[in-house]
Formats: sequence, structure tokens, C-alpha cells
Amino acid sequence: ICFTIQNTYSDSCSKSDDKCTAHTENRYSKEVNNWSAEINKKISLALDQYIPCKRANCSCHADVIHKDLLPFKDGITKEQFAQARAKATKYQVIDGTLYREADCHFPARCAGVEHYLAELSPQLPNLELAINTRDWPQLNSAWGHPKAPVFSFSKTKDYYDIMYPAWSFWEGGPAISLYPTGIGRWDKHRKSISKAADKCPWAEKEVIAFFRGSRTSEERDALVLLSRSNPDLVDAQYTKNQAWKSDKDTLHAAPAAEVSFEDHCRYKYLFNYRGVAASFRLKHLFLCRSLVFHVGDDWLEFYYPSLKPWVHYVPVSPDASQQQIKRLVQFFKDNDALGKEIAERGFQHVWDNLTDKDVKCYWRRLLKKYSKLLKYEVVKDDKLRKVKDMI
Ligand code: UDP
Repeated sequence: ICFTIQNTYSDSCSKSDDKCTAHTENRYSKEVNNWSAEINKKISLALDQYIPCKRANCSCHADVIHKDLLPFKDGITKEQFAQARAKATKYQVIDGTLYREADCHFPARCAGVEHYLAELSPQLPNLELAINTRDWPQLNSAWGHPKAPVFSFSKTKDYYDIMYPAWSFWEGGPAISLYPTGIGRWDKHRKSISKAADKCPWAEKEVIAFFRGSRTSEERDALVLLSRSNPDLVDAQYTKNQAWKSDKDTLHAAPAAEVSFEDHCRYKYLFNYRGVAASFRLKHLFLCRSLVFHVGDDWLEFYYPSLKPWVHYVPVSPDASQQQIKRLVQFFKDNDALGKEIAERGFQHVWDNLTDKDVKCYWRRLLKKYSKLLKYEVVKDDKLRKVKDMI
């Protein structure tokens, strides 16, 4: 069900406030006007510069493959692969069949990856790859780590890791009580969330900024605290995760009940934050046709660079104060049509360019390009087992 509530929030001083003189009110509104003009300018500029990507053949994400493989443009040696392999799970494709070492640290995550690799293997040349299923990437150039081809689902630009579509597109995502077997099946979520969005069009959404999730990063605190002082503007609360021990882990408040992706569609403004690395949350938020506020631009998944700030989402600095966040939300309350347009473009982009077919296509293009960089002949490793036999 989608409710509309009258929101009474106002950023100006109240008449009963003695400190609220005409002078400060004028100065304040001038500042806000200048700031609003800046935001308008940023949106116009972003739209002027925006060239929609070509939809065919997962081309919207092709640059990411190019960039991630650039450090390896002179080829990948056997020694480099050995360094990568030490950080990850070893896979091989030999004569169209997928093999893996017996041990996988996170079996459900490996299964999520293997869903795509097994289907693709008959089309691939012989190759071997090292897939990291941990939450964080492995080889940081800024920390002096060696350059080696570890595949990871998320990284910042400082890492050599090569991004692959996260296991959770199919299975193995974090298990929360709403999704006890783990978040997955993006193909199904696309349908169910967009159906929920149809039931809850823009004009009927609650005019409130919303976030539900655990405290995997302190960057989330500002919004949660703002929610406590301005509950009519923001509803942001921490939920429990597996590491939860006491209310301290939910910023000294009782943990909130979890909210399904579909129920996020009731709210007009949806916030996304990094967690340990990029959060799986982001892609789901767009499907609500709500306005996405994406905080921080360091942590990426493969499809993030195709999304453009101010075109598809509202970028927010991870250092933004509660006051700055409040102002930004207020701006979009005051400029409703602008927010609706950004929300629509964000939805359409994810709907058109992040299908299960795009995920498969990305894997295929990535692995074909990667296989050409291997400078040595890949010889079947007898310690590996057929993935088919391990299921
Ligand atoms: N999640 C959810 N509803 C909730 C809390 C979490 O759907 O009420 C999802 C969330 O979108 C994310 C996953 O569960 O995809 C884990 O969220 P959390 O905030 O615990 O960690 P994150 O992965 O974002 O760092």
C-alpha cells in the first residue's frame, strides 16, 4: 500500500523562536537560494554532457572492462596468475568445461558465480582465473601490492582487482531475516520491485528520505542521527546484522525491523551507502522509481560507472553533515519535478541496461578479453574438480 502524507517540515526558523530575527532569516534564505542555483547548475551541466550509452551488447559497461584490464595490457604471466591465485579461488575452463578447486571459502557465493560461468564455459577458450569471493578486494596499488589479476565484485580505483558481476545477481548474497537464503535472483527482483513501483507512483510516495540497513559503515550515521531529530523528513534506522551484539551496534537504539526491497518503493527518496565495499542495495533502489541519493563514489561494482551523478541519481558526499543532507532533501522537496525526472532516468537506465542478459554478456566480454591476455598455455590442473560434479 502506498500512502501520501502531508509533510510539514520547513527549513526556515519558526516565528516563536526568539533567535529567529528577520535579519538571520534573510541571510539564510539568500544562502539557500545561492546554493539551490548551484544545484540547478550542476543538474543542467550533467544533462548537457550526458550521452546515453548504446544498449546493445552490454556496451554501457564496456569501458569498465577496458579500464580494469588496462594494467594487464602487456599480458599476464604464469607468475602473476600464481600471485592472484593465492588470494582467491582457482577456476579453469578446459575444452568448454568449468573446473574449480575443491575448497571455496563461501560455497553459496561460489555457486552464484558458477551459475554464470558454467553456462558460458562452452563458448570460452581454455583459461584460468582467480575469483575472490570475500567482501573486499585484494591488491591495492597504493599500498604497494603486486599487480596480479584477482577477480573481485567491488573495488575502488586504487585496486588492481578486476570487477566481475557479484554472485548475488543469482545467489549467495547476504542472508537477512527477510531473505534467509541470501539476497539473489536479480531477475526475479527486477520484476517484483518494478511491480511494487507501479503500485506506488511518484505522487503517492511518502515525501520522506528512507534507509534501512545495518551499520556496516559509519558513513551511515549522519542520516540515522538526522532521522532521530527530524523524523518527519527522514526515516533511517539501523537493523541487526550477524555481528550485532548490543544496541551499541545500532548506534544506541534498538534494532529496527527489516524492510523488503519492494516496501522501499513507498518512499520518495532512497539513500544508498557503501558497506564494507559497495552495497548490493543500490541496483534495487532504482527499480522503485524513487529518487536515489547515492553517498560516496569510491566503492564500485561493474555497473556503477554507467550511472551518472545528477542524471540518474543525486550524489552525496560521505562527509556531508546532517544539515547538508537536510538541505539536499529539502531542495528536491522544493523542486519535485526535477527529482521525478532524475528518478525516472535512473529507473530506465537500470531497467534497460542491467538485465540478467547484460550480466551474462558482461561476463562473456570480460572473460574473452581476459583470456587473450594470458601469455602462457593453460594446462589442466588435476587438483581441480568439475563444477558440475560438485553441485
Ligand atoms: N536489506 C534490506 N532490508 C533491510 C536491511 C537490509 O533489504 O531492512 C538489504 C540491503 O539492501 C542489502 C543487504 O540487505 O542489500 C545487507 O544490508 P546491510 O545494510 O546489512 O549491509 P550492506 O551490504 O549494505 O553493507
